[in-house]
Amino acid sequence: MYCAVCKQNKDEGIKFLEVHLCEKCLDNITKTRVEDEEYQKYMDIFKDILKECQVY
Ligand SMILES: [Zn+2]
Repeated sequence: MYCAVCKQNKDEGIKFLEVHLCEKCLDNITKTRVEDEEYQKYMDIFKDILKECQVY
């Protein structure tokens, strides 16, 4: 399974909506706060995921 955030092939992790998230990215996302620079990056990724879900 390829992680939707880091694009690496990881076996561990969870299925989130239609995509796979590895434990490392999941951990990073949960630690990210709104004021962090990374926050916007993750939001953009999730917007793309939601767009893809609407297609199906
Ligand atoms: Zn990842």
